[in-house]
Amino acid sequence: MATDPDCIFCQIIAGELPSTRIDEDERTVAFMDINPASWGHVLVVPRAHSVDLHGIGVEDLAACSAMAQRVAGRQAEVLGADGINLLNSTGAAAWQTVFHFHVHVIPRYQDDPERDPLTLPWVPAPGDPARIAAAADALRCGDPT
Ligand code: AMP
Ligand code: ZN
Repeated sequence: MATDPDCIFCQIIAGELPSTRIDEDERTVAFMDINPASWGHVLVVPRAHSVDLHGIGVEDLAACSAMAQRVAGRQAEVLGADGINLLNSTGAAAWQTVFHFHVHVIPRYQDDPERDPLTLPWVPAPGDPARIAAAADALRCGDPT
């Protein structure tokens, strides 16, 4: 299995660095984020080192998604979360600071700024239709109907 001795998440997975683990399976580990965005913020990581979304294998990605869903279920059931945000940052430009793929599972609490001080990080506003279409033209795969 791929590991990087300089990677702090690989060190956590190997038990060389402390973490507060809440779940694990064959492919993934889930542990508490030490700088929680809200109460109960969890990180889900693949055991195999991959830097980001571009590098992770589809089986590990699927396993991380399934683990994130399981954690989210417990955040709702046990912590009483009203909602969940899943977040992955790929690349420094997208705020990634630890370069071992991870999914943030962030429980959300309605009208409870003490447990959940988060605000939407963009201002929703209608986009220019021509620019949206240009991006779609560049991104489109095959001939979707
Ligand atoms: P990102 O900025 O999306 O790459 O997320 C990295 C996350 O890892 C941040 O939310 C950090 O708070 C968290 N983090 C960094 N070091 C540790 C650690 N030793 N144990 C738990 N979480 C960590
Ligand atoms: Zn790693």
